[in-house]
Amino acid sequence: MANFKIATIPGDGIGPEIVVETVKVLEKIGQLFGHTFEFTEVLAGGIAIDKTGEPLPNETIEVCKKSDAVLLGAVGGWKWDVLPGDKRPERALLGLRGALGLYANLRPAVLHDALKAACPLRPDIAAGGIDIMIVRELTGGMYFGDRGRKQTDLGEAAWDTEMYAVDEVRRIAITAFELAKKRKKKLTNVDKANVLESSRLWREVILEVAKDYPDVTLDHLYIDNAAMQIIRDPGSYDVMVTTNMFGDILSDEASQITGSIGMLPSASLNKDNFGMYEPIHGSAPDIAGQDKANPIATILSAAMMLQYTFGLDAEARAIENAVTAVLKSGVRTGDIMSDGMKLVGTKEMGRLVLEEIKR
Ligand code: NAD
Repeated sequence: MANFKIATIPGDGIGPEIVVETVKVLEKIGQLFGHTFEFTEVLAGGIAIDKTGEPLPNETIEVCKKSDAVLLGAVGGWKWDVLPGDKRPERALLGLRGALGLYANLRPAVLHDALKAACPLRPDIAAGGIDIMIVRELTGGMYFGDRGRKQTDLGEAAWDTEMYAVDEVRRIAITAFELAKKRKKKLTNVDKANVLESSRLWREVILEVAKDYPDVTLDHLYIDNAAMQIIRDPGSYDVMVTTNMFGDILSDEASQITGSIGMLPSASLNKDNFGMYEPIHGSAPDIAGQDKANPIATILSAAMMLQYTFGLDAEARAIENAVTAVLKSGVRTGDIMSDGMKLVGTKEMGRLVLEEIKR
C-alpha cells in the first residue's frame, strides 16, 4: 500500500479527453490494490499560452518537481501554429524534459494480437509478434548541440552539432542494459560508427558498460541498416538503444509497423526513475472534442508509470491485460477500426477498459 503524487497535464486537443479516462483507470487500480494516487492538474501548451501567456508556466514545473510522476496528454494545435518557434505550445515539451532532467525516452512498439491486421508488414514477417523497446537518448546530441549560420563561397550555410559526452552515453546505456536484463536479455546498439566520431565514442562507452552485464547479449547495427532490419525481421529485436536523432526516426518507424499511433505509450525518465508518461501521438486537432480519440496509448502510459516509476508490476499488468481483453472482445475506436468490429468513442473505450481491470 502506498501513496503517490501525480501531476497531470491534459494540454490541448484530445489531451483532456484521454487524460480523464486514464485518471479513472489509475483510480480503479488504487481502489483494487490499496494505493492512493493524488492528482494535481497543471497547465502546459496552448491552453497555458491562452491563460498565462507562456507555454510552460513556472508553477507547472514546480508542481511536476514536487510530484512522483507526470502524466501528459498532448500539446499543440492549429490555433497556435502562427506563433514563432520559441513561443509555440510544443516548447513546453522541451522545457519539461530539460527542467526534469528526462534523458531516457522509452518507446515500446508492441503489435497486439487482436490488431495484427493493422500491421503494414506481410503477415509472415510479423507472424512471430513484435515487441521492441526503443531507448532513445533525449537531452543530448544534435537537437541540443551548437548550431548556426554563416556566409560561405557557396552561399549561406547552416550547421548543427552532434556531440555526446561519456557520462551522457553511460547513463542511457545503463538504462538500456537494465531494461534488457529484465526482458529477453538482448540489446542492440544503433549508431553510425563507420562514419561519425561521436558514434565511435558512443560505441566505446556502450562496450565498456556491457562488461557489467555479462548476461545481456549485445550487438550493433548502423542506423541505416537498423531502419531496414526492423521492417525485415522485427521479431528478432528486443531492446534497442540509440541517440536522440536516430531514436526520433527509428521509434517513429517502429510505431508504424504496429498499426496505430493511438495505441503507443512512452516514458521519459531521469536518473532516479522519476518519469513523464505520455502517448506518442500529438493533440489530434482534427478529432478533438468529438469523442473519437483512442485513449489506450495514454492508459498504457499509466501502466508504464506504475511499472517504471512506482515499481508496481502487478498493477501495470492489470492495465495491460484489461486493454488486451477489450481489444479481443472486438471493440475499436476509429483509428483501429476494421471490418466486423464494433466502433466506440473515447468514453466508452475508457469505460470498457475500466470494467476489465481486475486484481
Ligand atoms: P497527431 O499525432 O496529433 O495526429 C496525427 C493523426 O493521427 C491525426 O489524423 C489524428 O487524428 C490521429 N491520431 C492521433 N492520436 C490519435 C488517437 N489517440 N486516437 C485516434 N486518432 C489519433 O499529429 P499531428 O497532426 O502532426 O500534430 C497535431 C498537433 O500535435 C501539432 O500541433 C503537433 O505539434 C502536436 N504534437 C504534440 C505532441 C506531444 O504533445 N507530445 C507530439 C506530436 C505532435
